[in-house]
Amino acid sequence: MRTWILVIAALLAFAPRADARTIVHAGRLIDGVASAPRERVSIVVDEGRIVEVVAGFVNTGAGDEVVDLSDHTVLPGLMDMHTHLAFELSRTSYMDEFVMNPTDVAIRSTHYARLTLMAGFTTVRDLGDDGMTTVALRKAIATGFAVGPRIYTAGKSIATTGGHADPTSGWCQALAGDPGPREGVVSGVDDARKAVRQRYKDGADLIKITATGGVLSMASSGDNAQFSDDELAAIVATGKDYGFGVAAHAHGAEGMLRAVNAGVASIEHGTYMNDEIMRAMKKKGTYYVPTILAGVTVAELSKEENYLPAVVRPKAARIGPQIKDTFTKAYKSGVKIAFGTDTGVSKHGENAREFELMVECGMPPMTAIQAATMEAARLLRIDDRLGSIEKGKIADLVAVKEDPLANISTLKDIRFVMKDGVVYKLDGAAVAR
Ligand SMILES: [Zn+2]
Repeated sequence: MRTWILVIAALLAFAPRADARTIVHAGRLIDGVASAPRERVSIVVDEGRIVEVVAGFVNTGAGDEVVDLSDHTVLPGLMDMHTHLAFELSRTSYMDEFVMNPTDVAIRSTHYARLTLMAGFTTVRDLGDDGMTTVALRKAIATGFAVGPRIYTAGKSIATTGGHADPTSGWCQALAGDPGPREGVVSGVDDARKAVRQRYKDGADLIKITATGGVLSMASSGDNAQFSDDELAAIVATGKDYGFGVAAHAHGAEGMLRAVNAGVASIEHGTYMNDEIMRAMKKKGTYYVPTILAGVTVAELSKEENYLPAVVRPKAARIGPQIKDTFTKAYKSGVKIAFGTDTGVSKHGENAREFELMVECGMPPMTAIQAATMEAARLLRIDDRLGSIEKGKIADLVAVKEDPLANISTLKDIRFVMKDGVVYKLDGAAVAR
């Protein structure tokens, strides 16, 4: 009997364990919730989940894999609440829409998704594409046909006729036609409801509206109010029926305040946010997603000849730099802030530049990191499973060489990426997938 027990024990010891775990030895841990980092911690990952976070570098069992990040800082997977994975601004952008097919756009988006993941962003909220691209991309990534972040997408942004995100604004009449709710363009309450329901049918996860004019659209105003109160109320109420939060692009104060009062989940850019709006946002619990990087990028591009169209250039020069001041004021006022870049306006994979700008504008590094982890998860209402390195959460981890609290720029050099417990980047190099 005793011999049999020994034989079975020996077989078990050498058999490949079905429950082999990955144990990450973190020299320093910023967990997304605690106000201070911890030193020398082990994160035990099993079946894509964090099963334990323990002090010291724990010993491993047979079959366990150790990832030695003992001279790194480990953080939760970063989360960008404003990306456009189906787009990247370039000198040819305004022509591309006439020559690129949806398949061209889709293939490019897989490249942008990979760059995003390698930059340490394991989750993104995508706020507007040409229709179905990011829904397809989300499915492709989730099923292993493409490599990229976990995507929550708005699909096509909802705009008003001629507004920011009316895809035919600025086109000659022969081409422009009359896009409607199916294309994400509305006028009136019935259209607004139908446009939300169409996004549900398309497979979107949330709603994006363009509450005011915008910088890059072919229209004269970058900040006018573009939705009426009854249209906004219809969108928010219909969205609720489908579990959709609403993200509102807004530069000008009037359209922004209407959106906040209607109950949107977040204000994007928020350029001319005033004290009244900040008070309303705090009362309502509305998030601010600053996208300072987009402001800085378009302001830089406005100085270049023949890059942005003539109608866009003055808007880019004026609105771009203003976001920095607004961010500083909003942070000081206590408005909830979640990290977002509007990447696609800037280059994919450079999302972490936003951290430098947030710190430059007065936010402490730890707060900026939490804006891109736990706060972002709260905005997406997925904080029960993502946003921090805690027992029971999905194993999304990244690592950098230096201490980001001392040098925030180290977040631009991500050395390690794990998403759902799977390693995608190790020692600064992509792992073949
Ligand atoms: Zn955007």
